[in-house]
Amino acid sequence: MQLHCLFIPTKLFVYGYRLEDYDKLFGPVVTDSEVVFKIKVPEPESFRDITSNSAIPDLDMADIELFSQLSGRENLKTSLNMYDEYFLMSCRVAFFNADYYITGMVASEMRKHIVYNVTVKAKSHLILETQCECAAGMGPYGQCKHILVVLIGITDMVQHRRIKMKTSITNRQK
Ligand SMILES: [Zn+2]
Repeated sequence: MQLHCLFIPTKLFVYGYRLEDYDKLFGPVVTDSEVVFKIKVPEPESFRDITSNSAIPDLDMADIELFSQLSGRENLKTSLNMYDEYFLMSCRVAFFNADYYITGMVASEMRKHIVYNVTVKAKSHLILETQCECAAGMGPYGQCKHILVVLIGITDMVQHRRIKMKTSITNRQK
């Protein structure tokens, strides 16, 4: 009984002690929750490739501009160019519990063979959560050019019923 009671506090103490050591050596320890944050999305089966018939959030360019201004970076033009040059590789949408979920794949600007997965949670005119695999895109409020490319694609579908995507064999399968 006594041993049992002692065991857990000791373990916790050692763990805390080690974290403190890391803190001294490398600065604040990055916790797991920060490293592996992922927007909670519905089951993969809920997602469909975006078409002109898809239920999508009613986003317009004013929403995207506001979102890009919040990031404090001037990368909307870059993203508009990337979108025009077909950096968007795929875009899928799901509607669940009154929220829209969008997943997209966007090619890297520097190394085109690298593709980043982007996830966006939105309501009409409201971008709730964003994340991208690139260094700047950490969720839940990621801000990067790849996220903007996906948002621009959604806006294009809302306004012009089209989306510019570089089609690939993978995209055509579904
Ligand atoms: Zn990104």
